[in-house]
Amino acid sequence: MSDLRAQYDRIKPEIDSAIQSVINSTAFIKGPEVTMFEEELREYNGVKHVVSCANGTDALRLALMALGLKAGDEVITSNFTFIATVESIAMQGLKPVLIDPDHGSFNVTAESIKKAITPRTRAIMPVHLFGQCADMENIMELARQHSLYVIEDAAQATGADFIFSNKSVKKAGSIGHIGATSFFPSKNLGCYGDGGALYTNDDGIAGKLRSIANHGMKVRYCYDDIGVNSRLDTVQAAILRVKLRYHDLFNDARRTAADFYDRALAACTGIETPRRMTFSTHIFNQYTIKVKDGRRDGLKKFLESKNIPSMVYYPSPLHSQDAYKYLGCGETDFPVTAQLCKQVISLPIHSEMEQQQLEYITDAVLEFFK
Ligand SMILES: *Cc1c(COP(=O)(O)O)cnc(C)c1O
Repeated sequence: MSDLRAQYDRIKPEIDSAIQSVINSTAFIKGPEVTMFEEELREYNGVKHVVSCANGTDALRLALMALGLKAGDEVITSNFTFIATVESIAMQGLKPVLIDPDHGSFNVTAESIKKAITPRTRAIMPVHLFGQCADMENIMELARQHSLYVIEDAAQATGADFIFSNKSVKKAGSIGHIGATSFFPSKNLGCYGDGGALYTNDDGIAGKLRSIANHGMKVRYCYDDIGVNSRLDTVQAAILRVKLRYHDLFNDARRTAADFYDRALAACTGIETPRRMTFSTHIFNQYTIKVKDGRRDGLKKFLESKNIPSMVYYPSPLHSQDAYKYLGCGETDFPVTAQLCKQVISLPIHSEMEQQQLEYITDAVLEFFK
């Protein structure tokens, strides 16, 4: 699905020397690279503050903690996402209010969010799924009207651009009150272990996030908040500093691969290629197609027989998982999610894909539908 080895080979000297220099310094926790990386990522995203943390799930959880939401408060999010999104809400004693995404974009829309707003709603957590932004302009307007917080789950979309109707452009994660991202190795900006970060333009929220991520401590041994230990370690920050310099190049390479897929598969009537929205660029953390007529699992098996990896993100709606049955959602409440879970399949995509690999994969897909 991804080829982290080939990517490493390409940048090996820089990565190796970055890691070695952290080992030489022995500043493994809160070393200077952490602050330097935060500053560089801040610059890249055009936000006022970046606070790094241990992983993307923590980033979401820290965001909810910093906003001071109370047990039972409702947070609206997508039923079609990675479990971490919903888990972070439930973990804080808040109530995840799940909604269907749009079938075309895989993302929640302002219209569907609006229908789920109740007097207990406090926040909206849109997910920029597979590397393309949700409609942040309309979501922010809706949030403003109802005085709700917006936390962007930008784990799959580091570097995607959101384009407003007045043509101004902002990075995924930099638009809501807080943006959260992950540096899990398979994300577009991935490190060599776990890592995450938060973005905000609000000084107060930034201070709170920084404190909570470090035991609730502002001044040493003075605890203003109940916090956690959630830090990006220095080795990972040093690796990320190198990879951030290549990030746009790597995203462009993924887009080139996606363009090839789009063209090669355009005439294939058995599938639908990913829809690209005019208000967002797409960084293709996943290249996810929809297979019609119940043939998804057949295609997956066929690809397997040709040694082509593929993945189903995501195979089942979250409300039907045992851990989330307590939410009391009806089995048939989410027709779009149910349909997507049966139709989607993601094809290999990464920064090192070769023409030959793309041809081999698309030929196999076309052969299956012949
Ligand atoms: C990966 C991911 C996360 C969590 O990130 P981790 O670093 O693995 O904790 C959260 N939300 C989405 C949508 C993700 O894809």
